Amino acid sequence: MIDKLNEPQRDAVTLPAQHALVLAGAGSGKTRVLTTRMAWLIQTGQVSPLGILAVTFTNKAAREMVGRVSAIMPIDTRGLWIGTFHGLCNRMLRAHHRDAGLPQAFQILDTADQLAAIKRLLKANGVDDDKYPPRDVQRFINGAKEDGQRPGDVEAYDSFRRRLIEIYTLYEAQCQREGVVDFPELLLRAYELLSRHAPIREHYQRRFKHILVDEFQDTNTLQYKWLKLLAGGGAHLFAVGDDDQSIYAFRGANVGNMADFERDYAQGTVIRLEQNYRSFGHILDSANALISHNTGRLGKNLWTEQGEGEQIRVVEQPTDLLEAQWLVEEVRGLISDGRDRSQIAILYRSNAQSRVIEHALFSAGVPYKVYGGLRFFERQEIKHALAYLRLMANLDDDTSWMRVVNFPPRGIGARTLELLGDQAKAYDTSLSAAVARVPGKAGSNLAQFSLLIQRLVDETRSLPLPELVEHVIEHSGLIAHYELDREGADRIENLRELITAAAAFVVESDMGGLPAGEIVQKAGLEDPMQEGFDGLSPLMAFLSHAALEAGDNQAQAGQDAVQLMTVHAAKGLEFDAVFITGIEEGLFPHENSILEQAGLEEERRLMYVAITRARERLYFSLAQSRMLHGQTRYAMRSRFLSEIPEEHLKWLTPKQGLSDSEPRWKSGGSGFDAYARQGNVARAPAIVRSSTSGVTVGSQQFRVGQGVKHARFGEGTIFGLSGSGLDAQAQIQFRDVGTKTLALGVAKLEII
Ligand code: ATP
Ligand code: MG
Repeated sequence: MIDKLNEPQRDAVTLPAQHALVLAGAGSGKTRVLTTRMAWLIQTGQVSPLGILAVTFTNKAAREMVGRVSAIMPIDTRGLWIGTFHGLCNRMLRAHHRDAGLPQAFQILDTADQLAAIKRLLKANGVDDDKYPPRDVQRFINGAKEDGQRPGDVEAYDSFRRRLIEIYTLYEAQCQREGVVDFPELLLRAYELLSRHAPIREHYQRRFKHILVDEFQDTNTLQYKWLKLLAGGGAHLFAVGDDDQSIYAFRGANVGNMADFERDYAQGTVIRLEQNYRSFGHILDSANALISHNTGRLGKNLWTEQGEGEQIRVVEQPTDLLEAQWLVEEVRGLISDGRDRSQIAILYRSNAQSRVIEHALFSAGVPYKVYGGLRFFERQEIKHALAYLRLMANLDDDTSWMRVVNFPPRGIGARTLELLGDQAKAYDTSLSAAVARVPGKAGSNLAQFSLLIQRLVDETRSLPLPELVEHVIEHSGLIAHYELDREGADRIENLRELITAAAAFVVESDMGGLPAGEIVQKAGLEDPMQEGFDGLSPLMAFLSHAALEAGDNQAQAGQDAVQLMTVHAAKGLEFDAVFITGIEEGLFPHENSILEQAGLEEERRLMYVAITRARERLYFSLAQSRMLHGQTRYAMRSRFLSEIPEEHLKWLTPKQGLSDSEPRWKSGGSGFDAYARQGNVARAPAIVRSSTSGVTVGSQQFRVGQGVKHARFGEGTIFGLSGSGLDAQAQIQFRDVGTKTLALGVAKLEII
């Protein structure tokens, strides 16, 4: 098992029981070391599989590790604590729901459900959602929870914030009443459970002898605190990570945990791995060169024995459509050269880029799979079906209630729901409990719906899970509804797929044959408290599974299809051939992050992650103009391109092509310089590029740098011009409304 490892890897794997941090760059074998250490600890009899807790970054990685352990020794894998932070916390809360103050059948809100719940809350409490946009409220609440703060812990330094804290308080009450838990709440509750209940804490502290954590650089403060509590009884913490791949700061990840970990635990046992086994030389050296532009790194140097390999192929296309067409051609070439489709990945910085690429692949008949986009469990029809299932498990789940009380339509109008909401608020109950208080026809319509749910429960009592799901999608009226919908065929197919997913789930979790509603009571291995699904019915277990999968960036494993995903979702993965698309200023690095050094450095780490996914072949592609969010945008080459030494690049389109490395607006006239002299450069959008310095439309002559006035957008400065005649367009930086691209023949612009 350890023969194939290099020396520092072997040292890490066979370290005596102690704390340790493996700090190493991409592709150096961190994940491999982690899984091998787990196997080694078990095989050498140092620990029983039940004495290990392993935290992975995705459900997929967790499944792989479970597979690996069960290959070493036959074992009931349900007793293994291997999973994501969310998955493990969910399990802990299920096992101790009473101490955690939760109903046994608590439901998990994914990000979209949470937003819906917040919108409903703001409305019910008459909060002005211009002043408190639901997304901002969501960010506030999640940020607080990720820092371990309840409403009482958040500092209220002004009235705006005081109001936010009130909303947070109301939101907590709403979740509690409905028996639902959002993602950050899973972590916070599990942390509080351990910190407040000594017997439970001590129980787990005794149980876990070894705690192993992958991708440690992306843990947040609360996750680290949770790990510290668990390790408090003498467990050995083994963490692997790479500060250069920390890419979730925007979601609260704290790369400072690495330094803290070293201080708290691992003095003297920081192991560095420097040999990279994934990529060829040009790829690796590019990554090294790029990341050296960041400051404050812990510092690593990666090398490979694999030889130089091929240079990075760079392609610049005039438009995003042509970029996508080129991609498809190149991908087809790779496939006909005999490459596996699943070994080809197309990466992009923003989800919005995928549509054009998907369309091109689809039209060319190339099978592809998108990760991290709208995942199966997030599709509308699937969420509807899950809402019925959730109500069957917990009628107080108001989010699910609102989702399907009138879907398919059954004549329950907004007015009725408002009445119901008022009653629920007045008596502080869930919506379903307030039904009896709504008088007249409205009330009886609502009661019909409650009866429907009750009937579904009664009719499926003895059915196994897949049959239960089938019964519900039929008898809820969902199938009939979509049959009438002209575009419903896909949705029906997805609903049928949900039956398959349920069948796969009962097999995987070894719950086959059990009636879906029956609670599993199985004597535990060491301790009944530890059984993963103890006290949970197959239906409830499936519902948590669905919610957790919906929150997972990577969802299912690869099929024989080209892999499309954001750079974030590609973390930890590797492919023979990788395309990084849209390497343009404003897109990658993203315009929202350009102005601050911290933001820019995170973008650079993202680019580092993207490059280091490639084993053999890497492509960079960019487009000079692209449609994004309904606007044509013109872009310069990404600065990251110039941070990579030329010797590693091979231009497939002319390097001195349509776009010079010196932007055109410099040679095009003095306009931009004047603009720059006014101190506007930092604010100048990154997507600056123009093909001509002057354009005449009608009787007006437009130039770059010129001041203009628009009836609606106000005053601004032209920073780019393109096309001529009727196609002429100007990119304008408006003082108040930001950048816009306007057709000069249509927009009425006044030169000022
Ligand atoms: P990342 O930072 O991207 O998560 P990592 O450090 O976790 O990367 P791994 O994914 O564990 O790296 O390993 C990268 C590749 O190198 C894998 O294909 C792995 O099997 C291979 N590898 C690791 N160590 C060795 C070794 N000693 N000999 C041969 N191949 C190895
Ligand atoms: Mg890894």
